[in-house]
Amino acid sequence: MLAETHLFKCLSDNYGVLVHDPESGATASIDAPEAAPVEAALKATGWKLTDILVTHHHGDHTGGIEALKTKYKCRVVAPAKEAAKIPAVDEMVREGDTVKVGTLAANVIETPGHTLGHVVYWFHKDKLAFVGDTLFSIGCGRVIEGDPEMMWSSLKKLRDLPTDTEIFCGHEYTTANIKFAKTIEASNRVLAARDTEAQQELAKGRPTIPVTIGEEKQANPFLRADVPEVAAGIGMAGKPAAQVFAEIRARKNSFK
Ligand SMILES: [Zn+2]
Repeated sequence: MLAETHLFKCLSDNYGVLVHDPESGATASIDAPEAAPVEAALKATGWKLTDILVTHHHGDHTGGIEALKTKYKCRVVAPAKEAAKIPAVDEMVREGDTVKVGTLAANVIETPGHTLGHVVYWFHKDKLAFVGDTLFSIGCGRVIEGDPEMMWSSLKKLRDLPTDTEIFCGHEYTTANIKFAKTIEASNRVLAARDTEAQQELAKGRPTIPVTIGEEKQANPFLRADVPEVAAGIGMAGKPAAQVFAEIRARKNSFK
C-alpha cells in the first residue's frame, strides 16, 4: 500500500506534513514546527504519531518535538551531523541510510547548504520527497551554513530524482519565488503557467505544494543554473554552473 499524506499550516508560513502507512498504521511527522497544529492534524486524520523525521535543526522545524515526544512517545529521527542541536533525538541518520515508518521506507539524502547537516527523506516507492528548506517550489533555501557550490550540488542530487517524485517543502513561498524567477527567465512558459496555477490555488485557500521534480526542472531557476540560456540571460554565458547558481542566489537575497 502506498503512503498517504496530510499537509497543514504551522507558524506563519511553515508547512507541517504527516506521512501515514495504511498497512501498519504508523505515522510520521516531517519536522515539527510547533506541537498544536501537528496534534490538530492527527485529530483530523485519526492517525497515531509514531515518528518524527527531522530535516534540519532550525527552530521553525524543531519547536514542537519535545512536546510531541512527551505526549506520543514517538521516535525522533534526525541528521547525525546536527543531532546535537536537535532535542530528544533517538536515532541519527546519514547519507544512504534507510528509515522505516511502519512498512514504508525512506532513503536519506544529505543536502548540505542551508545548514551543514540538512537531510531529505525520499520515499522512493511512494514517489515522495520531503525536502525541508533545501528546495522550495520555484525556489531554494538560503545558503546559511554552507557555500553556494555545496548547495548547488545538493540541489543537483534532488534534481536527479525521478521526474514524477512529489516534493513537499517546508514553506509556502511559491508566489514570491515566481516573482523573482521571472527576473531570471522572463520568457519561460512553464514558469508563466505555474504562476497562473499558483494564484488560482492560493485564491481557493489551497497550498501550492506538492510539486513534482519534473515541473521544477522546467521552471525553478535554482535547478537551471547549468542551462546555457539561463546563464546567458544574466550575463554569465560559459561560466561554471556553481557560479551561475551563486549569482542567482545572491540576486534573490537582495530581491524585494
Ligand atoms: Zn531552515
